[in-house]
Amino acid sequence: MIKSVDLVIVARWVLPVIPKNTVLEHQAVVVHQGVVIEICPASIVSERFVANETVHLDEHVLMPGLINLHTHAAMSLMRGLADDVPLMPWLEKHIWPVEQRFVSPPFVYDGTLLACAEMLSGGITTFNDMYFFPEASIQAATQIGMRAHIGLVVLEFATNYANDAGMYLEKGTAVRDAYKTQPRITFSFAPHAPYTVSDATLSTIGTLAEQLDLGIHTHMHETMHEVQTSKANHGLSPLTRFANLGLLGTRLTLAHCVHVNDADMQLMADYGCHIAHCPTSNLKLASGIAPMAKCDALGINIGIGTDGAASNNRLDMFAEMRMAALLAKGQSGDATAISAHQALEMATINGAKALGLESQLGSVTVGKQADLIAVNMAEMVSQPCYDPISHLVYVASRENVTHTWVDGQLRYNKPESSTGVFSQGVFSEVEPHTLLHIAQQWHHKLSGAFSHRQA
Ligand SMILES: [Zn+2]
Repeated sequence: MIKSVDLVIVARWVLPVIPKNTVLEHQAVVVHQGVVIEICPASIVSERFVANETVHLDEHVLMPGLINLHTHAAMSLMRGLADDVPLMPWLEKHIWPVEQRFVSPPFVYDGTLLACAEMLSGGITTFNDMYFFPEASIQAATQIGMRAHIGLVVLEFATNYANDAGMYLEKGTAVRDAYKTQPRITFSFAPHAPYTVSDATLSTIGTLAEQLDLGIHTHMHETMHEVQTSKANHGLSPLTRFANLGLLGTRLTLAHCVHVNDADMQLMADYGCHIAHCPTSNLKLASGIAPMAKCDALGINIGIGTDGAASNNRLDMFAEMRMAALLAKGQSGDATAISAHQALEMATINGAKALGLESQLGSVTVGKQADLIAVNMAEMVSQPCYDPISHLVYVASRENVTHTWVDGQLRYNKPESSTGVFSQGVFSEVEPHTLLHIAQQWHHKLSGAFSHRQA
């Protein structure tokens, strides 16, 4: 009997990510009600299914959508506002003053919408966010049809969003209560960093995370300065401090982990913590190179993040995958460190594991959500193609992404015309002139207030 389904995607190659190092050829991926229900040879799909829509990808790789495991989406409005500055002055003299003056729900909504458009066009279907006014981030992600894991940010000091840690937690849990059944939206607590959150607040977050069964997402050991200051102030490294407060465990995702010693890495491995590796941001802010080959050898689950657009400046997971694979080799002196397939796992299934969503996301698997992307391998630089896995990491760029589906809905389709992402119909849910207008409006406001070259 022939089954009627929503969508059939016939692809030259399918990279399921699970099992490892596997490339299927001439396959059809069958999608119904947002879920992958079958993967079968293209030659027999029409004997079994009749689809509302069939997409033929004759020269493409179909693979799971990428998961950006650490970002601050709304900071896309601050892209290029302060470059070539180290982390602490970058935060204290540039980012925090701009945030103090401008951050509001409209800022977060607009910035997140622009970031989502950029991410969808680069094959990212899920982002793990940390920013103020999370309700505005949820609204932007929902409007454009992207999946978001929303970090409920907590700081000890006052910002436009909240006055003190108690108020951040109160507002955060209220947002979570209001949106916990919203499709494609999940939550974690996001204490900003060890140096901006007190022991008492961290303990409270640990308890709340257990009670509500939520993850915890924070910055950790990003700079040498952070580790040294913690040792001076607390007599402990930030990671040991988290361990003593009972926060280490499988619900914890740690962004950066650049300055971690052998004992730190063993602690993360023993407790099953996840790392959000952000190689470009670490280089740009001169934080250093995170020892990911070592962490990987210890069995730590490592995902990849872009960090915010102000410190990268691209929300480009293709660039991060390549950077992660190359840096691991260069740093360890071992060309086998972080293989191309491992880099793809980091950008997909490992991110899903960190978010506790591996049963739904991160691979092309029957029963999982149809968060899928198509990457065109017909470009001149991809010819000849002996191994699509190699090309995806070492050759392809995000500009080769032609289709991005979230829950089986086509949210981005690469335009043929030269006007790029501002072409009509590129994003299914947002008009291109809206994005252009948003970018122009905030450029006018922010560039009028701050010189990007100020010291
Ligand atoms: Zn960050």
